[in-house]
Amino acid sequence: MSEFAKTVDESSKPKTKGKFGSDYVRVSSDHQTTVRVLDARPEVMWSHFVPRGHHAFPGANAGKGMSFTCLGFDTCPICAWNKSQKSKDESTKDTLNARRLYTFNVLDRTQVTICTACEVEHYETNGSYPSECECGVDLSSVEAVPRNKIQIMQKGKRIVDQFKSFEEEEELGDLRGYDIKLDTRGAGTDIMTTCIPKQKSKVDMKAVVGDDWESKLYDIKEIVAPMSSESVNRILAGEDFYTVLGRGKDTT
Ligand SMILES: [Zn+2]
Ligand SMILES: [Zn+2]
Repeated sequence: MSEFAKTVDESSKPKTKGKFGSDYVRVSSDHQTTVRVLDARPEVMWSHFVPRGHHAFPGANAGKGMSFTCLGFDTCPICAWNKSQKSKDESTKDTLNARRLYTFNVLDRTQVTICTACEVEHYETNGSYPSECECGVDLSSVEAVPRNKIQIMQKGKRIVDQFKSFEEEEELGDLRGYDIKLDTRGAGTDIMTTCIPKQKSKVDMKAVVGDDWESKLYDIKEIVAPMSSESVNRILAGEDFYTVLGRGKDTT
């Protein structure tokens, strides 16, 4: 296909927007997560995390706090605040430094049990699946299956460096050729994730996700694109993210 035809075709693909929460693969110490990388390369961005109730921006995102893609040193309001902190005290630790994050599509292969009545997915918690769903249905005879959902993975250097090392191993190579298990231990700042590659295997995406699986890939470039500085300022000053971006909370 020509570049021209490809561009036209791609522009007509429905866009999948990333929402906070359910679109990101869940990596936690409650259960092991298994993913298959789907993208040839990650998008790299710098991100500031403004925690809930931070003293400089206590109202940020209606008081809930949020992560912001850095707008670049000269235009970013958070970098500007960091700069003013440093100008008051060169050695201050009271800054909101940006962290480098890597974002890419994965197929979430984590084992879950799915309620036969309400279709809610249940993760393993401390080694076992719940025996009953919140809706009241008995789950004790339901077998765990891979989620097989396309999700966004956004992680820092500690995890992607492990991924990178697998590609360098002769018997593994390209990350898209095998599943990776993420084993997470600890909590808070002591949290540690060990990544374990599985054997090479093929995944038939059409069979496990559907014929339209490519349309379910997230537009990662769009997801990590910075907002305008005006939007960032409004959110930092207390407005809600969804209001500022003109999106309803429940749109899918
Ligand atoms: Zn910044
Ligand atoms: Zn249920």
